[in-house]
Amino acid sequence: MSTFATRLIRWQPRHGRHDLPWQATRDPYRIWLSEVMLQQTRVATVIPYYRRFLARFPDLASLARASLDEVLMLWSGLGYYSRARNLHAAAAMLVEAHGGRFPREREAIETLPGIGRSTAAAIAVFAFGAREAILDGNVKRVLARHFAVRGVPAEKRTENRLWKIAEALLPSRNIQSYTQALMDLGADLCARSRPACGKCPLKKSCRANASGNADAYPRSRPRKALPARTTSMLLLLREGEVLLEKRPPAGIWGGLWCFPEIPSGEDARDYCFRRWGARVAGVAQLPPLRHGFTHFTLNIIPVVCRASPASSFVSEPGQVSLPLEDAAEAAVPAPVKRLLAGL
Ligand code: SF4
Repeated sequence: MSTFATRLIRWQPRHGRHDLPWQATRDPYRIWLSEVMLQQTRVATVIPYYRRFLARFPDLASLARASLDEVLMLWSGLGYYSRARNLHAAAAMLVEAHGGRFPREREAIETLPGIGRSTAAAIAVFAFGAREAILDGNVKRVLARHFAVRGVPAEKRTENRLWKIAEALLPSRNIQSYTQALMDLGADLCARSRPACGKCPLKKSCRANASGNADAYPRSRPRKALPARTTSMLLLLREGEVLLEKRPPAGIWGGLWCFPEIPSGEDARDYCFRRWGARVAGVAQLPPLRHGFTHFTLNIIPVVCRASPASSFVSEPGQVSLPLEDAAEAAVPAPVKRLLAGL
């Protein structure tokens, strides 16, 4: 029987994906951008973001010159904003320490902020043809099923075992077709639930398929109920403008523009007067909004305060009042965008 890699390499040209916007390039910058955007995010969501980002920052030098605010603005709505902050920091490092050139070796790529071993390997494979193994979530699933690996891939011991398997499978030629095939198979056929084993080029050797129980692999950690937090957000409007403030650089929505939060127990009207000297003519509470983070759920209570145009208003450093349509285009997280759209 032909090898695992040979079957995938033969399968890819006819059944794999060929039209993704980052496939027609060997430019490490473009490949890096796509790999980072694709972490935790679906292809269909990434494509318009990828195109907009490249239209604004067509190369490493333009990204390194940009302000973080501009980068976050283009990332707004894509989530996991540390990816954008790391991308920006890595671009500056590449320009300063590497003369604006992308390193070719996986180990060197891996030293850049926000790039783990699998992402570094994918860049080295697609940009430079390096013979490196990848192991993203989809590939872990394919290997765990094919080789009936019983452990939880998020645990180090199982992950190390999967890395060993991934390395041992690497073909000596056609590394790019092989890697692309593995990604395509994991995304399209070997789906998390109800994999399409009947169409899979690996079906004859796949142990999970033979057992008729592919869904049982890979095992996942028992899910804990996510804790919930609640916050009141202040949508302070004055003469068609809304007040936004910049979040601290690290942490949730780090560096993004957000509505100020009202401390618990505070009366919105009093708070606006005390903090900004704004006299509020009307207060309205909008329906609450839920937003899921990886580790908790945030319940947002939006409180709209309309300040009277005549009242004085002193904004603080790190705050800005923007016309509503400009605010929606700023570097704001998805729930803020939704609330702005509803105003
Ligand atoms: S045969 Fe099924 S379970 Fe096995 S690798 Fe293919 S799609 Fe996945």
